[in-house]
Amino acid sequence: MSDASAANFDFDLIVIGAGYGGFDAAKHAADHGLRTAIVESRDMGGTCVNRGCVPSKALLAASGRVRELADAEHLRGFGIHAAPVRFERQKIADHANQLVTTIRTNLTKTLERAGATILRGKGRLEGSQRVAVREAGGIERVYSARDVILATGSDPFVPPGIETDGRTVFTSDEAISLEWLPRWIAIIGSGYIGLEFADVYTALGCEVTMIEALDRVMPTFDPDIAKIAARKLIDGRDIDARSGVLAKTVTPGSPVRIELVEMATREPVETLEVDAVLVATGRVPVSRDLNLQSVGVTTNRGFIPVDEAMRVLVDGNPVPHLWAVGDVTGKMMLAHTAAAQGGVAVDNILGHQRLIDYRSIPAATFTHPEISSVGLSEAEAREQAAAEGFELGLVRSYFKANSKALAELESDGLMKLLFNRSSGEVLGAHIYGLHAADLIQEIANAVARRQSVRELASEVHTHPTLSEVVEVAYKQAAGALA
Ligand SMILES: Cc1cc2nc3c(=O)[nH]c(=O)nc-3n(C[C@H](O)[C@H](O)[C@H](O)COP(=O)(O)OP(=O)(O)OC[C@H]3O[C@@H](n4cnc5c(N)ncnc54)[C@H](O)[C@@H]3O)c2cc1C
Repeated sequence: MSDASAANFDFDLIVIGAGYGGFDAAKHAADHGLRTAIVESRDMGGTCVNRGCVPSKALLAASGRVRELADAEHLRGFGIHAAPVRFERQKIADHANQLVTTIRTNLTKTLERAGATILRGKGRLEGSQRVAVREAGGIERVYSARDVILATGSDPFVPPGIETDGRTVFTSDEAISLEWLPRWIAIIGSGYIGLEFADVYTALGCEVTMIEALDRVMPTFDPDIAKIAARKLIDGRDIDARSGVLAKTVTPGSPVRIELVEMATREPVETLEVDAVLVATGRVPVSRDLNLQSVGVTTNRGFIPVDEAMRVLVDGNPVPHLWAVGDVTGKMMLAHTAAAQGGVAVDNILGHQRLIDYRSIPAATFTHPEISSVGLSEAEAREQAAAEGFELGLVRSYFKANSKALAELESDGLMKLLFNRSSGEVLGAHIYGLHAADLIQEIANAVARRQSVRELASEVHTHPTLSEVVEVAYKQAAGALA
C-alpha cells in the first residue's frame, strides 16, 4: 500500500474494543507508527481490568492472607500462635476497586502516550474498511481505516432457567465488587472462575455449595491434577460439591431457590434455599451488534472465525483487512492470549508474517494453592502419539520432595510432564501446588521453543526453590527417553 492511498483513510487501523486484546493491538500499532484509533463503549481495559483478572486477583490476595492467618494448624507448625483474624469486607473490596482504577488509568495513559486516538462509543462495521461509532449521546460518525481489528471480548453466560437480579443471583461481573458476604452461597460451575470465587468466599467464612452439571467437579482440568487439587480446594473446605446435577431453575430473592435435577435423567433431585448464587457457567462472545453481515462473515455461535494470523475468515478464506483477536475468537479465553493475538494481528498488518502458537500459552487458576497448565492435555498427547507413531512419556514430580515447599509447610502438589519419548520434546505440563502459576512459565517457554527434555534436564535451577519441582520432572523425563 503506497503512502498516498493510505492517506485516503481516516486511520491506518481501527480497533473495536479496548480490553487486553484491543489494547495490545492498538499500542503495538501506534508504537510502530500506524495512525491508530481504538473504540470503547464501556470502561477502558475491558473484562480483565474491570471485571476479571485484576479485581479477582486483588480479592484472592486479601482473602488468601485471611485464610493463612486463620489456619491455626499451619501456623502452629512454625510455632506461631496468632490472634483470631479479623477483616473488613469493605476494605477488601476497596483494595480491588482501587487497583482497577489504577490499572485502568495507567492503561489509558499508555495508549494516549503511544499516540492512539480513543473514540468513545459503540463501534460496528459499515462494510469493508469502514467503522461506524455511535457515541453515548446518539451521535454517529463513520470512519474509514485500511485495517480493522475486532476485539469485542465476551460476557458471562447465564443458562436458560436461571434468572439474575445482580444482588442475590449474580455473575462474576457483580461478584468482583464483594458487596456483601452471603452466609451460604451456591456457585454454579466448577471451572476456574467458580473455583477462584469459592477460594475467596470460603476464606471469608461463607459456606459454599458447588454445582457442576458434568459428571466430575473441575471437568476442564487434568483428571489427576483435579483429583489431588479437589482434596484441598473442595473437600478440605466448607464446600459441598455436587456433580452430575443441573440447576434447572434459579429464582432470586431471600432465600434464592434452586431447583436441582439429575443431569442425565432430568429427574428432580431437591430444591435448595440459599442466600446467594454465583453463576459461573462460562462466557459468550460479544459480536451480535458488530454488523458482521455487512462483510459477509458468519459466526460460529457468536465466535468470529479466524486463522492463525488472526485474519477473519469467510468459508475458510481471509476477508481482506479484517482481523479479530481475544475472547470473541473463542480460542483459550485468557487475557494474555488476547494480548498475544493482538500482537500477531498487528505484526501481520505491518507486513511481518507471524502466526499464533496456542500450544505454548499457559493457563492458571489462582486458588490457594494454584493450578496451571500448558500445551497438550494427556488425552490430546495420547491421540497425537498414536497418530504420529511415537511413544508418549509421562513423569510426575511431587512438591513433598521439594525443600522449599517443605520449608513453607506447603508440600501438597504435583507436576505432570508429558513428552515425546523418542525426541524428548515437551508436549505439555499440568501443575497443582504453591505458585504453580509462576512455575508453568518455564515449561511454556520450553514448549514455545519445542525443546527436548534432553537439553532441559541439564539446566541448573536455584536451590532451594519450587522451580526444582520442574527440574526433577525434566531429569526424570530425560532418564525415561527411549
Ligand atoms: C472473573 C474473571 C477472572 C479472570 N481472570 C483471568 C486471569 O486471571 N488471567 C487471564 O488471563 N484471564 C482471566 N480472565 C479472562 C480475561 O478477562 C479475558 O480473557 C480477557 O479480558 C479477554 O480480553 P478481550 O480483549 O478479548 O475482551 P474484553 O476484556 O472482554 O474486552 C472487550 C472490550 O470491548 C468492548 N466492546 C464490546 N463491543 C463493543 C463495541 N461494539 N464497540 C465498542 N466497544 C465494544 C467491551 O466494552 C470491552 O471493554 C478472567 C475473566 C473473568 C470474568
